[in-house]
Amino acid sequence: MKIVMLGAPGAGKGTQAKMIADKYSIPHISTGDIFRANIKEGTPLGAKAKEYMDKGLLVPDELVCDLVVDRIQQDDCKNGYILDGFPRTIPQAEALTDALSKISDKVEYAINVEVPDENIVNRMGGRRACVGCGATYHVKYNPPKVEDVCDKCGEKLILRDDDKPETVQKRLDVYHEQTQPLIDYYTKQGVIAEVDGTVDMNEVFDNIVKLLEA
Ligand code: ADP
Ligand code: ADP
Ligand code: ZN
Repeated sequence: MKIVMLGAPGAGKGTQAKMIADKYSIPHISTGDIFRANIKEGTPLGAKAKEYMDKGLLVPDELVCDLVVDRIQQDDCKNGYILDGFPRTIPQAEALTDALSKISDKVEYAINVEVPDENIVNRMGGRRACVGCGATYHVKYNPPKVEDVCDKCGEKLILRDDDKPETVQKRLDVYHEQTQPLIDYYTKQGVIAEVDGTVDMNEVFDNIVKLLEA
């Protein structure tokens, strides 16, 4: 099962991707998580990515594409994977299509989680991310058992710098301009699957499973 998650920042891609990865025992590959891990470790890639992320801009394609193409060739990806936050531009989607076509393969499902902009700003303000394992919570919709502590690993939860309202608006603009065209791209490939992302997260998940198992 080779799946791509599409949707605005904060639409719930990560939340759903983790649930799908667990259910089908496939790796969850999040480019945002990979960049944040690099920033935490102080790598040169992390330093470069941070310059763009802090401004709400996309990291340049050339820093992203090879990284993902290498990752999906690793052994644990043999039975499939779920890409979360990649592709985010048409050139990234083309790089993925090209890499896959070399091994006579293609994306099987591009799941578009639809959430209007006005809901997004609300969600991002309440999102809390674990500095240890990257798990995400929401103060209202998915609170941790103990305030500001990760249920999974016990580390601290933070409001990401790029989740502050001024940056969220910029990220939404960037999404509409550079990422939304991918809906068309994958519609043309005949693999788009649309879900309403405004309902409860378990209901979103049930609807995705129905689409995958239809
Ligand atoms: P969200 O889904 O909440 O927007 P992510 O964790 O996916 O957040 O991404 C955070 C930031 O990392 C993005 O705003 C962008 O700067 C960078 N990033 C992640 N994935 C990509 C990508 N495929 N291409 C370019 N930049 C990316
Ligand atoms: P993305 O990866 O698309 O940026 P996340 O999965 O991190 O989005 O979700 C953004 C925020 O919204 C998180 O705080 C998450 O807990 C919350 N969230 C996710 N799905 C839903 C939902 N269906 N209803 C309400 N809140 C949600
Ligand atoms: Zn954690």
